[in-house]
Amino acid sequence: MNYLRGISGKIKFGEPLKGHTTFRIGGKAKVWFEPESVEDLTNMVRAAGKQKLPLFVIGSGSNVLIADKEINGVFIKLSSAYFKKMSIKSATIYCGAGATLAELINTAYFHGLSGLEFLSGIPGTLGGAVFMNAGISAKISAEGGSASGGKNGKTKTKSIGDFVKNVTVMDYKGNVKKINSDKIIFTYRKSNLERCIILSAHLKLLKKDKKKIKKNMLEYIDKRRKAQDYAASSAGCFFKNPSNELSAGRLIDLCGLKGRSVGGAAVSRKHANFIVNKGGAKAGDVLSLMSLIRKRVKNKFGLTLNPEVKIWQ
Ligand SMILES: Cc1cc2nc3c(=O)[nH]c(=O)nc-3n(C[C@H](O)[C@H](O)[C@H](O)COP(=O)(O)OP(=O)(O)OC[C@H]3O[C@@H](n4cnc5c(N)ncnc54)[C@H](O)[C@@H]3O)c2cc1C
Repeated sequence: MNYLRGISGKIKFGEPLKGHTTFRIGGKAKVWFEPESVEDLTNMVRAAGKQKLPLFVIGSGSNVLIADKEINGVFIKLSSAYFKKMSIKSATIYCGAGATLAELINTAYFHGLSGLEFLSGIPGTLGGAVFMNAGISAKISAEGGSASGGKNGKTKTKSIGDFVKNVTVMDYKGNVKKINSDKIIFTYRKSNLERCIILSAHLKLLKKDKKKIKKNMLEYIDKRRKAQDYAASSAGCFFKNPSNELSAGRLIDLCGLKGRSVGGAAVSRKHANFIVNKGGAKAGDVLSLMSLIRKRVKNKFGLTLNPEVKIWQ
């Protein structure tokens, strides 16, 4: 591939994608790229732009469903040490987009910095979490003991956007810029950081007793494992909740769909908003099951469920 000549970093052609997603589903990437530096990334982004090749930025692949074919584009994974760097100044933590949430939360804990404990147990990278505005559902928040946000039994959702001070991104032309939080719109499982590659973020935390932080982290992991289906391959909650009060899982459950399957894909018996890969599921199985669920919920409740999971086909 001539257009890639002179670009440094790890480049592969036809890389199987299954192993790069928590769903264990996906075809191949036309081009797979793991840059070692910002310069590598700029070179690739510009080369792909000239070739009109779409870019797919992938973190831990824990919120994506990828079709079972060769995807025409460049998959970018910020897995090198450069993109996983972290540093701390006072109560602010700098984190590279390729670091996992577990690495970030553990580093914060180690330095006695609190705030992100509610993300404990969520698979994913900082980049994916910021892009998706990852967070906690009202249900887990309600069950979340001392860490829950509510007063008088009221529950509150929390998301990573609440802690972001600024984000450094590269646009699809290869230009790098810093965006302050007042310019970023974080809404439910969404940010306006579209068409850019998140490189790093500064997050504002609070100093706290380490023992309390650890207790909070363990509580959240425990609640998540009790409430969600961690035993099977999935992409977490498949649909967005229609509102804070109405959970997609409850609506799907009320339609009697727990355990319903299409091919290798099934509605989890533990959490109805989890579509799981029972083994050998194709993306098409998941999409057929998704349509069936949407139809049944629409017929019974008149509500349209929208996927939280990003579908690449
Ligand atoms: C068992 C399980 C439980 C889960 N529980 C929760 C939960 O409680 N709360 C919650 O919010 N989520 C949850 N999730 C979903 C998922 O873990 C989060 O959305 C996570 O933040 C996604 O991060 P990722 O790195 O895996 O992103 P990916 O899945 O790789 O990508 C998701 C999206 O982010 C984009 N993206 C990734 N990295 C970057 C980057 N550097 N720059 C720009 N865009 C980028 C991708 O292009 C894609 O559009 C769960 C998933 C699983 C499998």
